[in-house]
Amino acid sequence: MFLSRSYPYLPLLGGQVPAIIKLPEFLTKGFNMPPEQFRVLVLGTGWAFSDRNYSVGFAVQTGQTWTLLEAPFPIRKVLREACAGHELNLDVKDFAVTIITHLHADHCSGVPVIGLYSKFEAKRKAPIAGGPEIMQRIWPDFMAAGMDAILDNELGRVRLGTFEDYFTSQVLQPGRSNKLANYQIRILRTQHMVPTYAIKIDFAGRSFAYSSDTPFDPEVIDFVSPADCIFHEVGDFPHTALDELMGLDAEIRKKMYLVHHPDNHDTGTSQMKYLRQGQLIEIE
Ligand SMILES: [Zn+2]
Repeated sequence: MFLSRSYPYLPLLGGQVPAIIKLPEFLTKGFNMPPEQFRVLVLGTGWAFSDRNYSVGFAVQTGQTWTLLEAPFPIRKVLREACAGHELNLDVKDFAVTIITHLHADHCSGVPVIGLYSKFEAKRKAPIAGGPEIMQRIWPDFMAAGMDAILDNELGRVRLGTFEDYFTSQVLQPGRSNKLANYQIRILRTQHMVPTYAIKIDFAGRSFAYSSDTPFDPEVIDFVSPADCIFHEVGDFPHTALDELMGLDAEIRKKMYLVHHPDNHDTGTSQMKYLRQGQLIEIE
C-alpha cells in the first residue's frame, strides 16, 4: 500500500481527493504518483566457472533510474533474458551508471562492450563507478589493449582512443556516503585477493546491500546487516562457506539471498534463499 508510506492520511479519503475541494494542481500532483520503486532484477547468479548460469550481475531500479551492478558478458543477451517475463525491456543505453565491485573478469567482462556499444551505437558515454583502485586500473590494465585504437571516419585514419572517448567515471570513496545517480551509496573493502568492495545503496528510506566477493568476514556482515535486503556471495574458500552464513542470526538470514554459487549447490532445497536469474526483488 504505497499511499500509506508517503501520504498516511490519504486512505481516510478513500484514496481520492474529493473533487469538490478543488485543490490547486501543485498540491495534488504527488497523489497519483506511483511509489518510488526500489527493485533489483537478477541478471546472473553463477560463480566464475559456471557452465549453467551467467556470472553475477544485477539491474537496480531506484524510481525512474536504473543502475547496472556488475557487468556479466554478453551483457545485452543477459539483459534481454532477465527481462523476459517482466514488463521490462532494458538495454545498455538505459542505465544511468554501471558499478563495478572489482576487476575479476566474471564481474566486469561486459564493460568493454558497454563502452563500445555506447559510443558507436547509442552515441553516448557510459558512466562507470567503482572504488578508487578499480577506477585507477580499469582502463590501462583491463580495457585499453582492445579499445585504444579508434577508426575515426572524420580523420580517415586510426587514432589513439582514451577512456574519455567511451566513458565518464565516478570514484566511490570508502568510509563515507557517496551520491551516485539518484541515491546514496557506501562501499566497504572486502578481504578478496584483488581490491573489492561490498556496496550498500540507500534510496527512498530503504536500503540494499551486496557483499561482492569475500571470505566470511564479520566486518562485511556488520556492513550489510542493517540493509532491508542483502545479497551475499557463497562458495568454497576464499569465498564464504554456506555453513558460515547459516550460522548467522535468523533476523539477518530472513532478508538475505545467496548468489555467486558453484554449480553443485542445491539451490532448490537449501534452508537459505538463493537468487535465480530473472528474479525481480522488491526492496521493502
Ligand atoms: Zn572475484
